[in-house]
Amino acid sequence: MPKMRPSPYCRAGRAAGCLRSYGIFGLDDLEWSIPHKSPYLPNPMPEALFQVKRLSELAQAGQLKGKRVLIRADLNVPQDEAGNITEDTRIRASMPALQMCLDAGAAVMVTSHLGRPTEGKFKSEDSLAPVADRIATLLHRKVPLISNWVDGGFEVHPGEVVLLENCRLNVGEKKNDDALAKKIAALCDVYVNDAFGTAHRAEATTNGVAKFAPVACAGPLMAAELDALSRALANPRRPLIAIVAGSKVSSKLTILKALSEKVDELIVGGGIANTFMLAKGLPIGKSLAEPDLVNEAREIMDLMEKRGAHVPIPEDVVVANELSPLARANRVPADQVAEDDMILDIGPKTAARLSTMLAHAGTIVWNGPLGVFEIDQFGGGTKMLAAAIAHSPAFSIAGGGDTLAAIAKYGIENQVDYISTGGGAFLEFLEGKTLPAFAVLAERAKD
Ligand code: ATP
Repeated sequence: MPKMRPSPYCRAGRAAGCLRSYGIFGLDDLEWSIPHKSPYLPNPMPEALFQVKRLSELAQAGQLKGKRVLIRADLNVPQDEAGNITEDTRIRASMPALQMCLDAGAAVMVTSHLGRPTEGKFKSEDSLAPVADRIATLLHRKVPLISNWVDGGFEVHPGEVVLLENCRLNVGEKKNDDALAKKIAALCDVYVNDAFGTAHRAEATTNGVAKFAPVACAGPLMAAELDALSRALANPRRPLIAIVAGSKVSSKLTILKALSEKVDELIVGGGIANTFMLAKGLPIGKSLAEPDLVNEAREIMDLMEKRGAHVPIPEDVVVANELSPLARANRVPADQVAEDDMILDIGPKTAARLSTMLAHAGTIVWNGPLGVFEIDQFGGGTKMLAAAIAHSPAFSIAGGGDTLAAIAKYGIENQVDYISTGGGAFLEFLEGKTLPAFAVLAERAKD
């Protein structure tokens, strides 16, 4: 279903409608003012980081014809004990790059890691053989699997594709060994990185080869991820709202700090919100929180306040005495949490206020569920914000293990503009780290 893009008034009305449909608060509770827009905010990310050569451009310019192209893909799929592929999304997602090269008349070599093999020690369970079979089925052509390929000695002609055995078997891959990277680079005329999920790792096939190959570019998956991240964080439409939620501040402290310098509103949820509530002097009973990080939370709020940005603190919460599917959930004002209460979700008034903000956002970045959404009575906040994101005209990007599970649970996959499957790479990007795979492609684009 395409994402709806209503007028600003309609947007607020839709948010109200969608909130009302959950039946947990009245329209009067909604705060309709357009959220504050900072007069000045620094440009969050250097745009140069996103300027890379793209495979599609080379293909269109006829620069792949007759060329040897090496694609670093992410074909790391789950398998059962017999080695059968149980889920092939990553393989299917990687096909456009292969097809683009074949259509452009290139001789195509593809490699990927699979699992965590020991370098130099081949075991049959580490083999990409089942992946070669699956690619052959998807492309309706033969896909030979080449072992011990680093020194060449195999043939691939224009219009053909070969799969190069698990790159993590090569000694020096993990350490990004220059000698290995040079040998691999010598196999190709054009190197393509299409494996965003490994973009945060500096390994021979994700970083080193890009330094030494005659041409280095981003494949379509990598380019899509770059475009989405650039739109969300390098060049965002304001207000830029981040939702950082989940269990612990400690695991997301770097993300919270990095985003607190960039966003207009930093929505916190889950155990993270509990720590921020504690920092505000609110009672949190026996909720999950990290009292030793209260000062860090306070600093983040102070710094944001100073530049006119905010961390909206929950005004009501959902509590229970136990964390169980049978627990009885109660909604209470944020200042009335009892000593033996556990806060397990944001309350409906808070969810309504945040949803209104999201309805007026220009850009939304979402990482982490707002409550224990796995249990339905504590999933209301996450569900409501998911609906608000789905209906907001903002450009929205989401990522993270439980975030993807929440998106699937509430069925909004088609209404989030970009869902990053990058896992660790997405999180490191939010932390403001430079991803080695991006950095080297950006460097090579200057050639
Ligand atoms: P990542 O981006 O690291 O994959 P995530 O999106 O998976 O992050 P986590 O930090 O792992 O998020 O936190 C998610 C977990 O936090 C969920 O299992 C959820 O039940 C739990 N959680 C959310 N709110 C609370 C709360 N108030 N108390 C306890 N646990 C909570």
